[in-house]
Amino acid sequence: MTAMVTLPDIEEARRRIVGHVVRTPLLRSQALSRQSGAPVFLKLENHQKTGSFKLRGATNAILCLDEKARSRGLATASTGNHGRAVAHAARTLGVRATICLSALVPANKVEAIRSLGAEVRIVGHSQDDAMREVERQVSDEGMSFVPPFDDPGVIAGQGTIGLEIADGLPDVALVLVPLSGGGLASGVAAAIKGRRPQARVVGISMERGAAMAASLAAGTPLEVREVETLADSLGGGIGLDNRLTFAMCRDLLDDVILLSEDEIAAGVRHAATVEGEIVEGAGAVGIAALLAGKIRPDGPTAIIVSGGNIDPVLHRKIVDGIKTGVA
Ligand SMILES: *Cc1c(COP(=O)(O)O)cnc(C)c1O
Repeated sequence: MTAMVTLPDIEEARRRIVGHVVRTPLLRSQALSRQSGAPVFLKLENHQKTGSFKLRGATNAILCLDEKARSRGLATASTGNHGRAVAHAARTLGVRATICLSALVPANKVEAIRSLGAEVRIVGHSQDDAMREVERQVSDEGMSFVPPFDDPGVIAGQGTIGLEIADGLPDVALVLVPLSGGGLASGVAAAIKGRRPQARVVGISMERGAAMAASLAAGTPLEVREVETLADSLGGGIGLDNRLTFAMCRDLLDDVILLSEDEIAAGVRHAATVEGEIVEGAGAVGIAALLAGKIRPDGPTAIIVSGGNIDPVLHRKIVDGIKTGVA
């Protein structure tokens, strides 16, 4: 039996983070319901503070640290939604956070993280260099690393989305979850299966460079070459020494669906033009899977719209159907 995050852990996380995160809307999509012949609801984490669900896991993980660890501060190396979430959570909880970035990170991203209140340290010329600086701060300065997905506190925090879905939609039959490192999918699946075992939970990734999908197919964590994708928040590996999310996704997900770049673009476009929601590529994969007919709902369906942080110029191009250089 592998170590797992379970329903009681997630209920505890909910009590811990309440007041620090937004209980996001779960709204019926008339268009997707009509098209699929089942009631379809969007769980809108693009409305979460910092623009993605990652604030849930980061907040829970920080609140799980003892006073002493908190006083020594936090370190992480993410330029994306995890970095924003750690920076924001640390500031609101009164904890010092250092985000280590390579000199190659664009100035606007550096500024975005700085404006959330984190200290930015520019080191080296790659993500690996930035990560080595985090490791140094952990070993030399006693700072705590907040991992992006493979951590019990992070998984339990992301799982609170599953509780909110089960509360709002007690007869839920299908939940569609964006899948990268698998923190979100692990937590949501544990919550949903705990509350409603007969519901299906399906992970969704891009066709190119999806490390968890390849690892699940191989039966063991694999490295996958990273490729540019519209679902940029779904890039990156799962870690060859993965502790939790590989086993949880293997044991709890009913299926994994892969999408082309054109299908992801159609999801972003539908979100904007039909639902009136600004959604990033990773956040739109659940909508995209339904639109592409790659999954057939057999009852009330919840789609997790995981985030909305997308470059406005890229978003405009996708909505207008202009070639993006990725799709
Ligand atoms: C991080 C992220 C994901 C994937 O979450 P994992 O826990 O790594 O699987 C999906 N969507 C968005 C917007 C994200 O930021």
